Amino acid sequence: MNHPSHVVSGITGLVANRCFNFSAGPAMLPQDVMLRMQEEFLHYQQCGASVMEISHRGETFMALAEKAEHDLRALMDVPDDYAVIFSHGGATHQAAFLALNLTAPTDKAGYVINGHWSDKAHKQAVPYCDAQVLDNTVDIDYQDIRLDVFERLDPSLAYVHITSNETIHGVQYQQAPQTGDVPLIADMCSDILSRPLDVRDYGMIYAGAQKNIGSAGLSIAIIRRDLLERQPRPIADVLNYAKQAERDSMVNTPPTHGWYVAGKVFEWLREQGGVKAMHEINQRKAKQLYETIDCSGGFYRNHIATHVRSIMNVPFQLPNQTLTDLFLAQAAEHGMVGLKGHRAVGGVRASIYNAMPESGVVCLRDFMKTFQQTHG
Ligand SMILES: *Cc1c(COP(=O)(O)O)cnc(C)c1O
Repeated sequence: MNHPSHVVSGITGLVANRCFNFSAGPAMLPQDVMLRMQEEFLHYQQCGASVMEISHRGETFMALAEKAEHDLRALMDVPDDYAVIFSHGGATHQAAFLALNLTAPTDKAGYVINGHWSDKAHKQAVPYCDAQVLDNTVDIDYQDIRLDVFERLDPSLAYVHITSNETIHGVQYQQAPQTGDVPLIADMCSDILSRPLDVRDYGMIYAGAQKNIGSAGLSIAIIRRDLLERQPRPIADVLNYAKQAERDSMVNTPPTHGWYVAGKVFEWLREQGGVKAMHEINQRKAKQLYETIDCSGGFYRNHIATHVRSIMNVPFQLPNQTLTDLFLAQAAEHGMVGLKGHRAVGGVRASIYNAMPESGVVCLRDFMKTFQQTHG
């Protein structure tokens, strides 16, 4: 694409004054997507108004909504017997909705806790069912994932819940654990669309949009349709997955702008070659950073077991807080922002979702090396 109204730097590939934004979420969006949205900000296609100003039931929006769902289904190869719901709220809403929709108060549901977000998902379910913690790796500071818990599952569980990528700790399942007849539910907030997967391994996948999909306020749920038939308790239509699926996510006004942004990102992902191509890039990006950490002689440290290190969020520690603060300040001066680690773990965290270009990671890698040479 040509964007004559913008000066794009040849070194970073970024429009002037834009930084490489390593924020964990809301996170960086692909620059090309932003520029396209800017072009049509005041009048979307031929409708004479912004996409934010038009009826969700009108032809223009309905076409956009359908295309977004179509593109998502194509990207993830979502089978027809799975519903896709575009919903208000974040991943935490979904964590509550799913317990509300898929369990009766006396049902047991299993939670495997590998970090902050799986713990929070469990807490959302506690009011609605017998939400059992099957394993909690807090005893090893969330530095590894224990898979043996999946070998002895109680077959009467309503589902098993995991968080496929723990955004704060940087620990990630390498593949879907096998759960037999117990439906597996995964919070994929921070790694959806980052790598190929088989949707059939899951009863449900969900994510808030603001990390690897689009902007905050929208969340997406992909649910196997047989689970929608459970109807374990009376649920208001607006919170009811079955009703939302039946009414194409339009029980009420959906988050139209968020849906539009997501659609733009899906289009962009398909142009990039889809999830498989993104995965190759994502693996290369993560490798650059982990190699720099591992070859730093202990100046930079990441404690996660190497086989479960996240390719989306790379947290690392420096020798002390003074150096950490200096690192963050100097990185910002070099056009790299959003690197501060979550307050729960401190240090530095580089979130390198699909939208982070390889040039951003190379820039960070080179900065890390120079910083170590000066201060190591
Ligand atoms: C960010 C995040 C959440 C929380 O998302 P909200 O949209 O703020 O509710 C949940 N799970 C994971 C894995 C996350 O990264």
